[in-house]
Amino acid sequence: MGKKKYVYLFSEGDASMKNLLGGKGANLAEMTNLNIPVPQGFTVTTEACNKYYDDGEVVESEVIEEIYERMTELEKITGKGFGSLDNPLLVSVRSGARASMPGMMDTILNLGLNDDTVEVMAKITENPRFAYDSYRRFIQMFSDVVMDIEKRMFEDILDEMKKEKGANLDTDLNADDLKELVKKYKALYKKEKGEEFPRDPKVQLIESIKAVFRSWNNPRAIVYRRLNDIPAKWGTAVNVQEMVFGNKGNTSGTGVAFSRNPSTGEKHIFAEYLMNAQGEDVVAGIRTPHPISKLKEDMPNIYEEFLKIVNILENHYRDMQDMEFTIEEGKLYFLQTRNGKRTAQAALKIAVDLVEEGMLTKEEAILKVEPKQLDSLLHPAFDSNALKENSPIAKGLPASPGAACGKISFTANEAKERAEAGERVVLVRLETSPEDIEGMIAAEGILTVRGGMTSHAAVVARGMGTCCVAGCGDLKVNEISKTLEVQGKVYTDKDYISIDGSTGNIYGCEINTVEPEISGYFEIFMKWADEIRTMKVRTNADTPRDASQAVKFGAEGIGLCRTEHMFFAEDRILAVREMIVAKNEEQRRKALEKLLPMQREDFVGIYEAMEHRPCTIRLLDPPLHEFLPHNEEDVLGLAKELGITVEELKATIDSLHEFNPMMGHRGCRLAVSYPEIAEMQTRAIIEAAVEVKKNHGYDIVPEIMIPLVGEIKELKFVKDIVVTTAESILKESSIDMKYLVGTMIEVPRAALTADEIAKEAEFFSFGTNDLTQMTFGFSRDDAGKFLKDYYDRKIYESDPFAKLDQDGVGILVRMAAEKGRQTRSDIKLGICGEHGGDPSSVEFCHNLGLNYVSCSPFRVPLARLAAAQAQVKNKR
Ligand code: ADP
Ligand code: MG
Ligand code: MG
Repeated sequence: MGKKKYVYLFSEGDASMKNLLGGKGANLAEMTNLNIPVPQGFTVTTEACNKYYDDGEVVESEVIEEIYERMTELEKITGKGFGSLDNPLLVSVRSGARASMPGMMDTILNLGLNDDTVEVMAKITENPRFAYDSYRRFIQMFSDVVMDIEKRMFEDILDEMKKEKGANLDTDLNADDLKELVKKYKALYKKEKGEEFPRDPKVQLIESIKAVFRSWNNPRAIVYRRLNDIPAKWGTAVNVQEMVFGNKGNTSGTGVAFSRNPSTGEKHIFAEYLMNAQGEDVVAGIRTPHPISKLKEDMPNIYEEFLKIVNILENHYRDMQDMEFTIEEGKLYFLQTRNGKRTAQAALKIAVDLVEEGMLTKEEAILKVEPKQLDSLLHPAFDSNALKENSPIAKGLPASPGAACGKISFTANEAKERAEAGERVVLVRLETSPEDIEGMIAAEGILTVRGGMTSHAAVVARGMGTCCVAGCGDLKVNEISKTLEVQGKVYTDKDYISIDGSTGNIYGCEINTVEPEISGYFEIFMKWADEIRTMKVRTNADTPRDASQAVKFGAEGIGLCRTEHMFFAEDRILAVREMIVAKNEEQRRKALEKLLPMQREDFVGIYEAMEHRPCTIRLLDPPLHEFLPHNEEDVLGLAKELGITVEELKATIDSLHEFNPMMGHRGCRLAVSYPEIAEMQTRAIIEAAVEVKKNHGYDIVPEIMIPLVGEIKELKFVKDIVVTTAESILKESSIDMKYLVGTMIEVPRAALTADEIAKEAEFFSFGTNDLTQMTFGFSRDDAGKFLKDYYDRKIYESDPFAKLDQDGVGILVRMAAEKGRQTRSDIKLGICGEHGGDPSSVEFCHNLGLNYVSCSPFRVPLARLAAAQAQVKNKR
C-alpha cells in the first residue's frame, strides 16, 4: 500500500476533492486546471488536520517532510526560493474548511520575510517602503494569529510612531520609519514570548499551519459549526500560496467580485476594488473602493480579461460566484472563487434564472437555496435604512425571527387590552407562562429576560410566527413598578422598544418595519419543490388563524392540534378550572358540558380552515396544574367564582402538585383517571366534523391522537372510550364518516413495543420533543442551562431538541417505524416534534419513509424545500 498523501499541489487537485482539500483549496485547484491565472501553491489536507488532533496536537514528521517536498516543487514552479537571498518566495497561509466558515481564522500574508529577505525584496523591487510595509504587516499577523499576542499592542506602537512623526495615515510613514517600526515590533515580540521572532521561514510556515489546525477548535468556530450543522470531524485544510502584491503602486490593486448581485440576484457583475492595496483592505472599509466600471476606464485590457474569467467561472460552476482578485503591476490574478452567499430573495431569483437560462435542471436548482433562509422571507423586517441610524441597547437570543416594534407592556393582560384598543405593544416579561398566551398573541413581539431557545416564550412565539428575543439578561425588568432598566436608562410602558428576533438585537426606540413580500420567484421555486418531493408536509396548528396561515404557506394537513391551547382563553379558563377542582365525576361532567360547545366550535373553525385536508387532533396532554392560578390574588378570585373556600381551593392545588410534572399525571394518564374528559373531547371532534361535512361537503376523516402512550393496554382503554363515543354520535347523525385513532410515540417504551401498539393504533406520530427529553433523561426546559458546558467540552455538537439525535433518539424512531409496519403495513407515520421543521431532521424522516412531517406554520415552506432536497439527494 502506498503512503498516504497529505499535501497536494494546486495542479494535483480538482473541485470534486472538497472534502479533502476544503472549499478554497479545491477551487484553487479547479481554477488552475481551467488555466485561470492563480498564484500557485499547495494544500495540506483536512486529513492532516484530523491526524494532527489524533496525534495529540502535533504535526508528525512525515507530514512536515511532505510539506517541504511540495515547497521545493513550488520553488521550481515559481522560480523563486523560500528564504532565498536572490529571489525570495513569499507565501500566504489560508485556512479553508469544506464549508466556508467566515472569520474562523485570519489569513497570514507575506510569510517568508525576515531581516535578510526583506532587504533582498527591497532591492529587487527597488521599493524599500513596500518591503518593510509587508514585513511589519507580517510580524503583526504572525504574532496575533499564531502567537496570540494582542493585535492592539502593535497598533498602539504604530499610533505612537505616527504621532511622533506627525503622520496622519499609515502611508505617510516612509521606509526608514517602517524599518524602525519593525525593530519595535520585534522587541515587543521578544518581551511577550521571551524569544526572538522566528527568522527561519520553515519554522514560520509550520507554526502557521499548526495555528490553522488549532483554529478549527476555537470557540468562534465551535459556535459557528453548531449554528450551521457542520460536524467537528470534517477538519480544516490549509492553503499555502505564492504571494502576489496589489500594493506595489499604481498599476497594482485588489478587489472582490460577485458574478450576480448577491442581494437582489440581478444578473450583472457586482465588483469593487482598490488600487495600491493588499488583502482585506477592500472589505475593511478604511478606504472607499471603486466600482468595477472605473477599471474599464483605467485598465481596459485587464477589465476585458476580468470579465472573461468571471463568465468562465460562473458557467463552469453553474452558480453565482464570489471571487477575489489582485492586479500586480498590470497582471491579473484570481485568488479565490466560491458559490457566493446571498440573501433569500437573491437565492430564489438566481435559482429560477439559472433554470431558465438552461444552466441547471429543476432538481439541481432546488439544492441551491438553504431551507433555513426562507424564514427571512416570511416575517416582517426592520427597514434597513432606519436600522443603520440606531444601535442596539442590548442583545438576547434570536428565539423567533422577524422584527417587532411597539410600546412596552409588562403584563400579558395589559398587552391584550392595549392591543385591542389599537395600540402596538411588545410584551416584556421576566419569562412567560401558559397564562400569558393571549397577551403573547396580541403583542407584536415578545422579549424575555430569562429562558433559552426552547423556553416557553421561544417555542410558543415560533409556533405563532411572532418575533421573540429570549434570555436577555442585561435587562433589569421590574414587573411591579413596570420599568425596564438597561445601560443606566429607565424605560416605562410609555416608551417604544424594537426587537429583532433574527439577530437578538434590542433597540430603545421606534423603528419602522416592512411587511414580507412573497415574490413571483418564490412561488415558482416552491412549485418545483412540491413537484419533486414525495413526503407530505403538515402543520402544527391550534387555531383557525394558524391553520389558515399554514395553508397559505402550503401545509397539506394538520399533524398536531393541541386542544389545551384553547383552554387558556378568557371565556373558558373558568370552566376548565371547574373541571379540574371537581370532587367527583358528576361535578366534572357538569364542567365538561360547558366546555363541549366551545371545543366543538374550535374544531369547526379548524376543519373549515383546512377544508378537505386531514387533521390530527390530540387529546388533552399537559399536567392539570398548568391551568390553575399561581398567585394569591388569582386564587382568591377563582375560589369566589367557584363558590368554594380559599382553603379548599388551595388544598386542591396542593394535591395537584407534582415533583416532576413532565413525567407525572398527564397525557393519556388523564383519560385513564377521568374517561369523561376523553369522551367530551371525542364528542367535540366528531360532532364538529359531522357539522362541517354537512355544511360544506368536505370529505373529513378525523384523526384522533392519544398522547404519551407507553403500554398497549392503556391505549386500548382510551381508544375504547373514543370509539364508543364516536360510533354513537355517527349512528345518531346517520352520516357515513371514517375516522382514525392513533397515538404519539413519545415515551421510549412505546417505541420499544411499537409492534404491539400498532395493533390498536392506526397511525403513529413521533412526538420527538418528549421522546428526546425522555431518551436523554433531561428536561427541555432546563437543559439550556448546562448544554453550553457540553458544547464547550465537545460532548455534544448540537442541541438535540433542535436537531434530531439520529444516533440515539433516531434509532428509536426507526425501530418504531419498522415494528409498526410489521404489524400494520399501511400504518400512517409522521413526526410532530420541533424537528419537523429542521432540514437535516426532515431528511432523516424522508429516508425512513415517513408519510409526513409536521411543523409550525412559518416553517412549512422550509420543510417543503427540505423534503424536496431530501428526495433529490436520496431518491426513494
Ligand atoms: P478569507 O477566509 O477571509 O476569505 P483569505 O484566505 O481569502 O481569507 O485571505 C484574506 C485576504 O488575503 C483576501 O483578500 C485574499 O485575497 C488575500 N490573499 C490571500 N492569499 C493571498 C496571496 N497569495 N496573494 C495576495 N493576496 C492574498
Ligand atoms: Mg477570501
Ligand atoms: Mg408530548
